[in-house]
Amino acid sequence: MSQAPLLADAPSSQERLLVIYTGGTIGMQPHENGLTPAGNFPERLTKALNQLPLQLQQSLPAYDVISYTSLIDSSAATPLTWQQLAADIAKRFADYRGFVVIHGTDTLSWTAASLAYQLQGLDRPVVLTGAMSPLESANSDALGNLYGALRFAANPELQEVAIYFANRLLRGVRAIKQHSEADEAFASPSYPLLGERIGDDFILFPSRGLAYQQRGAPRFELVDYQPVAHGEVVRITLWPGITPWQLEAWLSHPSVKGALLQLWGAGNLPDNPDLLAVIAKASGEGKLIAAISQCPQGSVHLGAYAAGHGLADAGVLSGDAMTPEAAYTKLVHVLAQPLSPEDQRKRFLTALVGER
Ligand code: ASP
Repeated sequence: MSQAPLLADAPSSQERLLVIYTGGTIGMQPHENGLTPAGNFPERLTKALNQLPLQLQQSLPAYDVISYTSLIDSSAATPLTWQQLAADIAKRFADYRGFVVIHGTDTLSWTAASLAYQLQGLDRPVVLTGAMSPLESANSDALGNLYGALRFAANPELQEVAIYFANRLLRGVRAIKQHSEADEAFASPSYPLLGERIGDDFILFPSRGLAYQQRGAPRFELVDYQPVAHGEVVRITLWPGITPWQLEAWLSHPSVKGALLQLWGAGNLPDNPDLLAVIAKASGEGKLIAAISQCPQGSVHLGAYAAGHGLADAGVLSGDAMTPEAAYTKLVHVLAQPLSPEDQRKRFLTALVGER
């Protein structure tokens, strides 16, 4: 993706934020086939922020905006989109005190999770936001989300990838989209809020932040995702009646290098040794296979029940309470690197950015 920079006026650049507009409902306008991503975002953003009460306008940090020239509905995002965004942030990292990424909500939590792995050791904020209705529509949530994202992105105590949405700041690698219509579209089922807007105050809970738990210099891992961006990592959610041949169709495919299995409850699958045999065969061939639960809350405990016994022996790695987004993007991130199978397994099991 390429960008057309458009810089707002302000002091010097290290005091500024960079806003990156990628598309999504927030910037969409109606067309004959439905809502479509629309351009002119920097001007539209300024116009919208100018509608805020003066006191709030004065509390805004200075910022520059870049807009991608190919704006997308985020349902079109791929691992290459995640890679491009991380590269764009890394390229401008030294020039800005924080970043706001404006993104469609459908896959916003996937992008946030992926950015967290690519931008490890962040020492400043990267805040993603979007909206459930377009900026110019009546009663839109867009302005509130943009304002809040800018405010949190200006707080140097926030040192990780976060999502600001509907007055709440969530850890990016712990978030899921939980509602297709409500303004409160995102949740963080297994980690508390990183911050909150209460009235006009933006409150950060620093002790929950990564900066507090994991200090260290930026150690970005900007990996080429090409080798895993064309179906090499699959996600399989079990359903009652799933058969070994169906599982095998995915796992034995020569292109597949890794799989995320979404099991039942605490980590169970049907009592059918042939299913386990398919999984064991794939992991024996060096495919990286991880398991999480279909339940949005709680962890998997492989082998706690007889119905899940055998998964660990079949080489399946526990994803604990990771979200599908966190587990899948981690498989992508790990499998894209030239690591030995042993190191891939170790990396997957290590908490890298507070995802588990
Ligand atoms: N389909 C839109 C997108 O993800 C939905 C949204 O932004 O709310 O780009």
